[in-house]
Amino acid sequence: MENQTVENMIIIGSGPAGLTAAVYAARANLKPLMIEGEEAGGQLMITTEVENFPGFEHGITGPDLISVMRKQAERFGTRFITRNVTKVDFTSRPFKIFIGDKLHLAKSVIVSTGASAKLLGLPSEKQYMSRGVSACATCDGAFFKNVEVGVVGAGDTAMEEANFLTRFASKVYIIHRSENFRASKIMLDRARNNPKIEFIVNATVDEVLGDGKSMTGIKLKSSITNEITEKKLDGLFIAIGHQPNTKLFKDILDMNDVGYLNTKSDSTYTNIPGVFACGDVQDAIYRQAITAAGTGCMAALDAERWMDANGESH
Ligand code: NDP
Repeated sequence: MENQTVENMIIIGSGPAGLTAAVYAARANLKPLMIEGEEAGGQLMITTEVENFPGFEHGITGPDLISVMRKQAERFGTRFITRNVTKVDFTSRPFKIFIGDKLHLAKSVIVSTGASAKLLGLPSEKQYMSRGVSACATCDGAFFKNVEVGVVGAGDTAMEEANFLTRFASKVYIIHRSENFRASKIMLDRARNNPKIEFIVNATVDEVLGDGKSMTGIKLKSSITNEITEKKLDGLFIAIGHQPNTKLFKDILDMNDVGYLNTKSDSTYTNIPGVFACGDVQDAIYRQAITAAGTGCMAALDAERWMDANGESH
């Protein structure tokens, strides 16, 4: 370990938060190392149109947005490793980050591992995953041409996915457990005005039905009467929110009861000095690409100032 390079900064995670931190840190000449993960880019990689990221008047696809951010970070000297971190040890400095047996050392760390789609947790959902069941309309929607599909959820994601799926499917049912929608008015109205979309409210998916090879339908349970009905469907898209990717940091970094990392007020400081968190991994409220990018900028500035103040010169 004596002769091993100690990086100024390692950024774990490569969505808009991590990439923005990388742009800022690289421009500050910190030569950051980003461990971007094997599925680099985060949730934007499975987002069709991003219409609300300022600077792109006519929208941009999620993968294109990530691609330009990555090029921008690279242009100023960010280096990338396309692997998953398997273990971290933040008990002493320099901080230790492992990719399998390979150890990386860093004076400062920025955690931007984001969040992943939640699932219903039914055994049959698992059985028919990728055989009718999907958590990503953008990835799998085109496989469902001229058939009927369901979308579970009532947030913006569900509305966006349902609208997108009408490009392919003959009919899209939005299935929601109550009558109260979390989606923004504009997204909800767009779905309501789409003739190919129909709403099934006060119902939960009790089971995914199939023939062993592919799903063929669902069992729906009424949230009011508990009555069970069956519905023939060729696809089911789960769009019920997200889980922060914080398993690596359990018992190491402070997190709330659902796993979002806690950061100190008005900053990106975690409970460990020198370790910073930004983006969806620490934001259960806004969860937007632009807010993730904003906190990524904050994390790079916090880390740079912390290094200067703590003799971790670069
Ligand atoms: P949300 O948390 O907003 O919504 C999740 C939905 O899933 C809720 O309707 C919830 O129901 C339902 N749900 C949760 N768990 C279950 C379950 N086990 N069974 C059945 N239903 C369940 O998540 P989203 O992913 O939709 O959105 C997250 C954030 O991302 C939001 O801030 C949203 O605005 C933003 N977003 C913005 C977009 C855009 O601007 N283009 C696109 C997509 C997302 P209940 O209400 O009953 O709890």
